[in-house]
Amino acid sequence: AAMRHLPYFCRGEVVKGFGRGSRELGIPTANFSEQVVESFPSDISTGIYYGWACVGNGDVHKMVLSIGWNPFYKNTKKSVETHIIHTFKEDFYGEILSIVIVGYIRPEKNFDSLEALISAIQEDIEEAKRQLDLPEHLKLKEDNFFHLPEGKIVNNH
Ligand code: ADP
Ligand code: MG
Repeated sequence: AAMRHLPYFCRGEVVKGFGRGSRELGIPTANFSEQVVESFPSDISTGIYYGWACVGNGDVHKMVLSIGWNPFYKNTKKSVETHIIHTFKEDFYGEILSIVIVGYIRPEKNFDSLEALISAIQEDIEEAKRQLDLPEHLKLKEDNFFHLPEGKIVNNH
């Protein structure tokens, strides 16, 4: 069921998140606005996904993404947060983030400790890297979506 909407193409502005300290964990997540999140299929599963991401007209990088319940809205709304597997020199709030969600890794989980959370995310990142090297996933990196002018979003599946 998690795969029904995939691959899922999405583009939107990077907004300020809710200070959950992902950067302190060494895992910053670029948050989409509420408006972009609302445009997602309402029945898309929460959990951890992998795919490709590009900031502005920059290079396309591997990413892991979480679709979760947003504590800011008392868990009545979802949040969509992308961790790009690349080291950026600067923040990119306000820039346009383009992503294609390619595959599903696991559902959301609660962890007993910060260490357990961090190691789960590290495993997610390793899984994303492996999956995205497969030819059928690698080809989405070259998708025209990443080279089209803004606004032309086509969910072609
Ligand atoms: P916030 O709560 O505002 O989302 P985070 O701690 O999650 O704060 O950091 C997210 C911000 O970090 C992004 O909006 C982006 O500007 C910046 N950033 C830097 N490197 C990355 C990266 N590799 N992946 C995602 N965001 C990054
Ligand atoms: Mg964030």
